[in-house]
Amino acid sequence: MSEVNFEQKGIVFNIQKFSVNDGPGIRTVVFFKGCPLRCKWCSNPESQLPKVQPFWDRQKCEDCRHCLAICPQHAISVEINHIHIHPSLCNACGLCVAECPQKALELQGQEMTVTEVMEVVMQDKVFYEESGGGITLSGGEMLMQPDFALELLKAAHEMGLHTCCETTGYAAAERFEKVMEHVDYILFDLKHWDAKKHQQGTGVSNELPIKNMKATFAKGKTVLPRIPVIPGFNDSLDDAAQLAKLLKAIGVERCQLLPFHQFGENKYDLLDQEYDYHDTPSLHREDLEDYLHVMIGEGIEAFL
Ligand code: SF4
Ligand code: SF4
Repeated sequence: MSEVNFEQKGIVFNIQKFSVNDGPGIRTVVFFKGCPLRCKWCSNPESQLPKVQPFWDRQKCEDCRHCLAICPQHAISVEINHIHIHPSLCNACGLCVAECPQKALELQGQEMTVTEVMEVVMQDKVFYEESGGGITLSGGEMLMQPDFALELLKAAHEMGLHTCCETTGYAAAERFEKVMEHVDYILFDLKHWDAKKHQQGTGVSNELPIKNMKATFAKGKTVLPRIPVIPGFNDSLDDAAQLAKLLKAIGVERCQLLPFHQFGENKYDLLDQEYDYHDTPSLHREDLEDYLHVMIGEGIEAFL
């Protein structure tokens, strides 16, 4: 058994208990901060930046501008009659959060050690044992913090837990393999079959994810590919057919569809960040019946 560095630190923005949608059984999901992709529909935009940052609640803010006056980094300015926090300048000192009279600011993310995370995760060990669950690493993209991910996975195994991850697969092959060696079940997102469209929607090409997905299947790992179905991006029946063909060529037999939803909409407001999907309705099972049938017709056992 490899030694675990329990003092390894990482930045986590949420630890969610009793999840039943992030791998088998009842699970605790650890959300890593930092992602190399910029998916325009992202439901966790607070996960993208690999550092602690303030959320600003415009409903609570009374525009007193005290935060602007006290910020030691001059990271707050006034733009179109409201304050705006510049993430590149902010060092997450927390002064504005502590001093805001309206409690309109809140820090997102915190640095934690492997020991601190595992203390929370192990509180529900009995539920994992009864349900076949365990720990799931999510994000963001856990591969942005590979050392933290690795030590957390090793610690979980040492404590007898089943490990799972949700990944974009966007990492150099060596890093990807090193971390995945300690993952029992991989939930692997695939966003688009076409490299150009993948680039337009996520900011990066699909080459690395496809290469890593192929390598993972070739190694016989337990993998479930998942496709977020996004209106206007990859929701046509031709997209369904092309995605199914690509998955088949990789050796995939089944995949899960994740219909677009609006759970993250208000977070863009809290980050004072643009969101292209404000007026896009969520998709439901009935919207994806034809999409499912096309994939099944192409030989992929697709489900929601
Ligand atoms: S200190 Fe608080 S209430 Fe005042 S402008 Fe800043 S966020 Fe708004
Ligand atoms: S957390 Fe600190 S550096 Fe960041 S905006 Fe607030 S006062 Fe400025």
